[in-house]
Amino acid sequence: MATAKSDAFVFFGATGDLAYKQIFPALQALVKDGKLDMPVIGIARSGWTVDDLRKRAEDSLKEHGGVDKAAFAKLSRQMQYIDGDYGDAQTFARLRKALGDAQHPLHYLAIPPSMFVPVVKGLAASGCAQGARVIVEKPFGRDLHSAQALNRTLHRFFREHDIFRIDHYLGKEPVQNLLYFRFANSLLEPIWNRDHIASMQITMAEDFGVQGRGRFYDEVGAIRDVVQNHMFQVLALLAMGPPANRSADAMRDEKLRLFRSMRPLKPEDIVRGQFDGYLKEPGVAKKSTVETFAALRIHMDTWRWAGVPFFIRAGKQLPVKCTEVLVRLKNPPQQVFDAPEGAVNHYRFRLNPDVIISLGARVKEPGEAMKGRPVELVAHRHIRTGMMPYQRLLGDAIDGDSALFTRDDCVEEAWRVLDPIIGDKVPVHKYKVGSWGPKEADALIADAGGWNDPKVDVPAKAGK
Ligand code: NDP
Repeated sequence: MATAKSDAFVFFGATGDLAYKQIFPALQALVKDGKLDMPVIGIARSGWTVDDLRKRAEDSLKEHGGVDKAAFAKLSRQMQYIDGDYGDAQTFARLRKALGDAQHPLHYLAIPPSMFVPVVKGLAASGCAQGARVIVEKPFGRDLHSAQALNRTLHRFFREHDIFRIDHYLGKEPVQNLLYFRFANSLLEPIWNRDHIASMQITMAEDFGVQGRGRFYDEVGAIRDVVQNHMFQVLALLAMGPPANRSADAMRDEKLRLFRSMRPLKPEDIVRGQFDGYLKEPGVAKKSTVETFAALRIHMDTWRWAGVPFFIRAGKQLPVKCTEVLVRLKNPPQQVFDAPEGAVNHYRFRLNPDVIISLGARVKEPGEAMKGRPVELVAHRHIRTGMMPYQRLLGDAIDGDSALFTRDDCVEEAWRVLDPIIGDKVPVHKYKVGSWGPKEADALIADAGGWNDPKVDVPAKAGK
């Protein structure tokens, strides 16, 4: 397995939205940390020069985190720009020349998914794929069939360990913390099973709509945009068994076992919603039935989790911006004292906008009666600093470390679970902006104590 550090960073989609919002800040941070000492070659077809690219990078940094004079000057010197269409062999011939004696270029496909295959083929035909790695942006396929086809194409030109399927959620500090907390402590593992856990739920709420990206979103919807990738990855970190060690494959083997145990979803396991006004968003089809909200119930056929339901809820235009996990424990076998409704114990993991790990319990109220009240033992931290997800992930890909990237079999297994309900298999229900989605979603989880609606008291920007 090639573990050599990459020696050129090639950046398809250099003029795009993702580059502006995430990639330039990550590149500057990597230069500052001494991890990007190599040519940085941007490729797009906007008719730009390298100075236009530098200007765009500077504008991006001014808006996203600030310009670090020394690091930016260095990054600017490393930058090159190639103007050309990805369908044109000449573009790749120019890239081959620009790569000079680089032996292990890293090609980052920050481009629309329809361009993944043409670019990969262009890289291979021009000799640019030789000894190289490739990072592929999300979404990886639209369903099981297209994901398999994309994997087949990638495998024609790259070995699996040289392919980095990005899911930036895995680069987030609080998501890393979830993994760490589970396996660095001994207190969870003895109770982390069907004997003690009643249910788990994950809510990913956004308090905004499609933010001008209606055309993109209307081809995707909530399940493809965030459930198949981000939410399933969080679910895997919550439910997988302990990895044998911290190697990329040990981690991904455990995730694979978990995804394989998940039953394919049935229509009764899902509720789809669409917020009022979505159809008026620019770029959205007039009669679109694409979901902006999805609630799912998932079953896993393992000894650990038999009979324990898992729920996922993700949506736009909900009351808050927050991602939170609630793990409900089974109640004591007898209520010796008072008998409160619902689960008396829980673990709560907030992943965004701040980090909370808490244990819900009951304590006695002072006084004669043996009456109690709920309390939470809370570990809490605001995330204002720390490594940006793209900085961490691009740095790992440069080093050839694929632990935080998704493997071919894991992607396909996740699609296998969702494939039966993707598209218009179930109706889409309208919901009010600022509500918690359509009421039909409540019935899905009623038997497991209902949804936990996160309450947020930190500014949304704190957790970006
Ligand atoms: P944009 O549409 O903003 O950018 C697309 C980029 O690809 C542009 O640089 C464009 O160049 C280039 N491009 C497209 N077709 C060609 C072609 N035929 N020849 C040459 N250049 C071409 O997309 P985004 O930046 O929003 O998204 C890129 C990828 O990142 C997608 O896979 C998306 O799903 C993913 N992503 C995006 C996020 C975001 O917040 N934007 C978040 C997470 C993932 P030019 O401008 O010169 O036409």
